[in-house]
Amino acid sequence: MQVLDILFRDITVVPMSSMSGSQGFFKGSVGVSGKKIAYVGESKPLEAKRVIDGRGKVLIPGLYNCHSHSTMVLLRGYAGDKPLQEWLFDYIIPAEQAMPPEGAYRGAILAIAEMVASGTIAFSDMYFNVEDIARAVDETGVKANITNAMTGFGIDFKKDRSYTQTLAVHKNFASLSHGRIKAEAGIHGEYTSDPHAWHQCLDFAHEHGLRMHLHLSETKREHEECKARHNMTPAQVFEKHGVFGVPTTAAHCVWAEEQDLDIFLDKKVNVVHNPISNLKLASGFAPVSRMLSKGVNVALGTDGASSNNSLDLFEEIKIGSILQKNATGDPRAIPALQALRLATSNGAICQGRENESGRIEEGLDADLAVLDFNNERQTGSLDPLSNIAYSCTGRDVWLTMCQGKVLYEGGEFKTIDIEKAVREAEALVASPLWKRKLG
Ligand SMILES: [Zn+2]
Repeated sequence: MQVLDILFRDITVVPMSSMSGSQGFFKGSVGVSGKKIAYVGESKPLEAKRVIDGRGKVLIPGLYNCHSHSTMVLLRGYAGDKPLQEWLFDYIIPAEQAMPPEGAYRGAILAIAEMVASGTIAFSDMYFNVEDIARAVDETGVKANITNAMTGFGIDFKKDRSYTQTLAVHKNFASLSHGRIKAEAGIHGEYTSDPHAWHQCLDFAHEHGLRMHLHLSETKREHEECKARHNMTPAQVFEKHGVFGVPTTAAHCVWAEEQDLDIFLDKKVNVVHNPISNLKLASGFAPVSRMLSKGVNVALGTDGASSNNSLDLFEEIKIGSILQKNATGDPRAIPALQALRLATSNGAICQGRENESGRIEEGLDADLAVLDFNNERQTGSLDPLSNIAYSCTGRDVWLTMCQGKVLYEGGEFKTIDIEKAVREAEALVASPLWKRKLG
């Protein structure tokens, strides 16, 4: 008999796969061997080095946060309650430019801690000093697609930090991390760069087989100014220039129009919905129900912690669903199982990981999260899916595992010295030079 490394026994399993059945869950066992899920089933006698009693617990695929700026945890609460343009250009960008160089790594460690403690095992990050972010991902055992998105007009892309840093992640980490780290090409947005730069960035993506991550139609102003400039929407301009010729993650898409949705479907563009960031900045909200009914792949993201102000994806699952119910006037919109799908299997598609993760199936990576329902909020659950979508928060996560390795269990971080991480982040935010900039 095969001896497993870990067996979750008598646990409620939400596989997000063909095994889901009509209810979307079943009671059974899941076995992990090495990095992989080795058994999924009702029950059979199995031996394991460690058996976890799953009674009162729920096993779900680990969550995917498909649009983040991890290091922005260091700017949480800075210049809140301001309009996006003022917040971004008058406060955030100048503060980022003054950030001490160790900020990227220390911020990323802290962000990863917050994410794994709330069930997230993979994120798509857009920031600068991305080699340091990749180092944090490598050390902590999560998965990430990482880009330093290009900005600028008339630039020589190959002399730009976007090129050198993203290439460094691709060369130095992609092959060393068992596939956990992927570099992506990135265009910050239509309004912060020009077609000349996009073509250079595209050549880079084609040359190295990279995916693309960009912001698209986040605000009405961005969307309308593009139409005034080009007589086309941002999605149409990007399509015209061949940007969607590589697998693309488009964050926000709040103001996407009907013909843009057709482009997303046709070009298999993955849309990332960031409901809380969009609502907090009063940017609006994306027509997600319409996108999903057309067949567009939609995943969820938190965006940066300074516009959210949390990296707990359960908040996006709940708000993302409730928002569409209200927007469509139909409480059946984005039901609980679909809300969880956006955060799991759709996220895996968005990162190009659908053949390795995002569902609980034999042979896939053991990327899992366990929710503990033995508490005052979840006990006596009549429908675990309803609890997951509308009652759970990250605090209900008991265990998080990536590629079979336990990263977080029972309030303890297994790969992060959390006291050191908090101490170092506090010291950084309090450092005299940066403090003066932050006011
Ligand atoms: Zn963003």
